[in-house]
Amino acid sequence: MRIGAHVDSTDPLGAATARDADTVQFFLTDPQAWKDPAPRDDAEALRASGVDVYIHAPYRINVATLNNRIRIPSRKLLMTHAAGAAAVGAKGIIVHGGHVEKVEDIATGFDNWRKAFEYAAKAGGFATPVLIENTAGGDNACARRFDALARLWDAIGEYEPGFCLDTCHAHAGGEDLLTAVDRIKAITGRIDLIHANDSKDDFDSGRDRHDNLGSGRIDPELVVAVVRAAGAPVVVETPGGVEGQAADITFLRDRVGR
Ligand SMILES: [Zn+2]
Repeated sequence: MRIGAHVDSTDPLGAATARDADTVQFFLTDPQAWKDPAPRDDAEALRASGVDVYIHAPYRINVATLNNRIRIPSRKLLMTHAAGAAAVGAKGIIVHGGHVEKVEDIATGFDNWRKAFEYAAKAGGFATPVLIENTAGGDNACARRFDALARLWDAIGEYEPGFCLDTCHAHAGGEDLLTAVDRIKAITGRIDLIHANDSKDDFDSGRDRHDNLGSGRIDPELVVAVVRAAGAPVVVETPGGVEGQAADITFLRDRVGR
């Protein structure tokens, strides 16, 4: 089982060693910025390292929105970050499902997702597999509730996108974790990555505050069950730096093996 952590982008390989992780995830730019990634000096080292690399796309990206001043730059930014991810040999680029402004806009939001894949396909496709992540909050989100996720996949399934399940987001988003893996696989046919995070907040709170495994409101054995059922690589996006994340990785490794 490949298990790692979301780490600072300065020295991902050093961060992996410090955590005894065989997988890392990081941002290529400031996640709050609208910025194309710059070439990295460690690109060759990352590709050759044997550490599996995942890139998280900037948070600003929302390809679903009806606001074209956000939607158009979002789909371009997803393309450039997918290319930057390919340059470091990443296995996937994780992007949040996005949202629309009003509940009646949601059908257009799903269609905007389809347009983003269509736009990419015309340019030769995304350079790295896109893994769409479920989100915790918002009433008009494309990938918070799994009924919305099913409609999203109806719109984009032909492009064979990947899926990243975040346990904190599912819990806070109001989806039962015990049955989540089966229900998602029935929709997407796949889970490519697990974000194994505890949640500081209650079920269906809509809040997105990650916690270390066993420190928040999710039974840690439920997170283990999700990891086992999904059979996918795991990234913890938890606080506490090296110490906190290494403890979370050890907790999972002790239960699911190396
Ligand atoms: Zn996540």
